[in-house]
Amino acid sequence: MNDHQPWEFTCKACGGHKLTVTRVWTILAGPDSESWQEWGPLEADHHWHYEFKERVEENPDDKDERGDFGEYAEDDSASEPEEYEIFEPENNPESDEFYVNCADCDREIEFGWSQPNRGGLIFPVECSDFIPGKIWPQPRYLDSWQQKHWLRTGDSQP
Ligand SMILES: [Zn+2]
Repeated sequence: MNDHQPWEFTCKACGGHKLTVTRVWTILAGPDSESWQEWGPLEADHHWHYEFKERVEENPDDKDERGDFGEYAEDDSASEPEEYEIFEPENNPESDEFYVNCADCDREIEFGWSQPNRGGLIFPVECSDFIPGKIWPQPRYLDSWQQKHWLRTGDSQP
């Protein structure tokens, strides 16, 4: 792996150094909708790639889970992560959600983008090369960044 990279991240909670990028999206499947997620490491150049993909189980009630005998989750093979290598930077619908987490303790890390409309590279705020005022916030963190005066100067976000 790449031990030399231009930025550093050290988790405040667990001391970990690796970050995971997750994309969550919803598809319509008949009358229901399904949520899927794919995730993989954030790399030294602020690119990332997805290594795994699985369906998000939002409705535990849908499972046949009469847990009286302690045997639930035995038939979970369909939801195991699969190898997943396709990287589609152009595919970025507005309904997608992105998350950055510490790869070791799963703590959520705020992050932004190098270009508007969630484009370009991912810059987590706890990385050593994060520069407030240069990064476009993930929309979820807009209010938080406003309070910290991290927004790009001159932006007029609606
Ligand atoms: Zn951590």
